[in-house]
Amino acid sequence: MSDVDQWLSEFDTALRANDTAGAAALFHEESFWRDLVAFTWNLKTVEGPSEIEAMLDATLEHTQPTNWHTTEPPDTADGITTAWIAFETATGRGNGLLRLRDGKAWTLLTALYELKGHEEPKGTHRPKGVIHGADPDRVTWLEDRQREAEELGYSVDPEVVIVGGGQGAIGLGARLRQLGVPTIICERNERPGDSWRRRYKSLCLHDPVWYDHLPYIKFPENWPVFSPKDKIGDWLEMYTRVMELNYWGSTTVRSASYDPDEARWTVQVERAGQAITLRPRQLVLATGMSSQPNLPVIDGMDVFKGDQHHSSKHPGPDAYAGRKCVVIGSNNSAHDICAALWEAGADVTMVQRSSTHIVRSNTLMEIGLGALYSEEAVAAGVTTEKADLIFASLPYRILHEFQIPLYDQMRERDKDFYDRLEAVGFQLDWGEDGSGLFMKYLRRGSGYYIDVGASELVADGKIKLAHGKVARLTEHAVELEDGTTLEADLVVYATGYNSMNGWAAELISQDVADTVGKVWGLGSDTTKDPGPWEGEQRNMWKPTRQDQLWFHGGNLHQSRHYSLYLALQLKARMEGVETPVYGLQEVHHLA
Ligand SMILES: Cc1cc2nc3c(=O)[nH]c(=O)nc-3n(C[C@H](O)[C@H](O)[C@H](O)COP(=O)(O)OP(=O)(O)OC[C@H]3O[C@@H](n4cnc5c(N)ncnc54)[C@H](O)[C@@H]3O)c2cc1C
Repeated sequence: MSDVDQWLSEFDTALRANDTAGAAALFHEESFWRDLVAFTWNLKTVEGPSEIEAMLDATLEHTQPTNWHTTEPPDTADGITTAWIAFETATGRGNGLLRLRDGKAWTLLTALYELKGHEEPKGTHRPKGVIHGADPDRVTWLEDRQREAEELGYSVDPEVVIVGGGQGAIGLGARLRQLGVPTIICERNERPGDSWRRRYKSLCLHDPVWYDHLPYIKFPENWPVFSPKDKIGDWLEMYTRVMELNYWGSTTVRSASYDPDEARWTVQVERAGQAITLRPRQLVLATGMSSQPNLPVIDGMDVFKGDQHHSSKHPGPDAYAGRKCVVIGSNNSAHDICAALWEAGADVTMVQRSSTHIVRSNTLMEIGLGALYSEEAVAAGVTTEKADLIFASLPYRILHEFQIPLYDQMRERDKDFYDRLEAVGFQLDWGEDGSGLFMKYLRRGSGYYIDVGASELVADGKIKLAHGKVARLTEHAVELEDGTTLEADLVVYATGYNSMNGWAAELISQDVADTVGKVWGLGSDTTKDPGPWEGEQRNMWKPTRQDQLWFHGGNLHQSRHYSLYLALQLKARMEGVETPVYGLQEVHHLA
């Protein structure tokens, strides 16, 4: 019997005997069990035998896990044996990844992938699509779809309303559709994909194609590595249609309130000018991490005679050839906009207030993502689904330890590049513990640029650099606190976005926003991610302290992967499956 089979058998025996201490004793003192909905009906990481025992004490009775087995031969490297596993619970089927060291568990990922009796109709269970024979009352697929569209939200209550119709809502909507959960997606823009189309015209995805697939339909093999924004917009529009989503474009959600007696939301929307009240059980805010602009208030904004706008409203460079442009900020949007303005023949200055983490796109692809998301990874059998689970299996608590050496390698490989940037005065950082881009993203969702060319322009002095805080605007200039005056025909505020519970305050109430607390971040006690340690991303894809309110979003990878667990949580509630939540998150910060 292999180490892994032995471990799984002992684990199974302990769990069947309700011996939670015995099961916990199979884990190392430093160990991590990350559960995605299978045991906890939550996204939850427990650490070390005593937390594991407590979690099992609370969850084992209703979970009743059985049938633990490997799904392919385990792999051993550097003293760690890694095994793909599967199991069943009373209500569903799960998979995961187990890492053993010296016969004991170091990390365990358990992830629910389907509910028993509510499996997706796919593969051998796919819908037939046709009813053979003669039927004078035959209803075609199109008629059926039209009837659904006419009724849902009018004479039939949706189970779920998703506020916002970006890629997050669209992927989640597709999963809910496959699970038979009646859902309406409300998007204030006219068409699916418009949130990408409306961004500045030079924008291409910063992440490569292997990282970006949506659920169910992968990009074709000839899809570009970095998708131009309008192309991704068209893909989302196509996807929304073929996945049969009830997508209400030109629909603004005005307000929402929760009725605890009826356990339903009242959602006031305006659809193409018409006021409609929706009464879903579940409300998902998928309004985007990067959609509520953080616009600074600066003295003199009212007297400035040129154009000024937040980066999200930047129309592109065409009108600014030969003009003086000042871009406030030094992260992704600032760099992209500066480069496009320079290409159009503008005179561009970037104002850097604090240090920025920069990685070159190619280097990031090779060193940071290549093992999991690349053509090579695909060729080595690392499917998107496997890559997502491997990534999910690395505990957040120690993720930075895996990241630091990668970023050390990047710093070494591109030393010349960084030296040149520092020589012109660009202030660089690598995250507070040197763990680089992905940790910054998980912790604060900002503070970096993936270099696709703008840094060379900065290093060459083609994009000019200024430092410090803006003191005021005058009619024709930006003045910095150190007295530097930058003449300007255009000022772009590339100053980022606000936290997502701001949306709960805006649409529901400040009370609910405060009940739920800050969204995003891990509690790493680094800039913009205050402690205490949370263990998971705050409030994302899991139950919140407001009944029946959920947050969904993140980059394409996160939206794809975590939409599965959110969809299963929503489906289980619709079907009346018991969903006792273990370890509901405490609220430590309001925003
Ligand atoms: C410049 C830039 C580059 C980026 N590059 C990448 C990248 O390469 N890869 C990546 O994965 N991510 C990237 N991101 C992050 C990107 O924002 C997200 O991946 C993506 O847009 C998130 O999708 P979403 O559905 O969560 O939110 P969004 O796309 O922001 O969608 C939210 C939607 O909610 C709608 N909405 C808000 N309020 C209401 C209301 N009251 N009623 C109705 N509708 C409402 C908005 O109109 C919007 O369409 C980038 C972001 C920016 C700003």
